Amino acid sequence: MRKRKVPLRMCISCKQMRPKQELVRIVRSKEGNIDIDLNGKKPGRGAYICYAQDCLDNLKNSNVLASTFKQRIDERIYEQIQKLLNEGDINI
Ligand SMILES: [Zn+2]
Repeated sequence: MRKRKVPLRMCISCKQMRPKQELVRIVRSKEGNIDIDLNGKKPGRGAYICYAQDCLDNLKNSNVLASTFKQRIDERIYEQIQKLLNEGDINI
């Protein structure tokens, strides 16, 4: 098997380093809009969390996303991640 260097990113919820493709990227644009970045291409400041229910729950309860982006996080963002988790679609 061919070895490839996998870029690692830290989950802001559990603080573990994981391959980028196992994480959901959340991005804040210059305008201050927070969004889920499904293909990792959106410009702006990014944060990552695992595709895991525990990490999402912890993220919701801990307010860590709000402190990362220094602004209030719309409930909609968590709902979108929840939807992704429910669909189990990690090959995006
Ligand atoms: Zn995590």
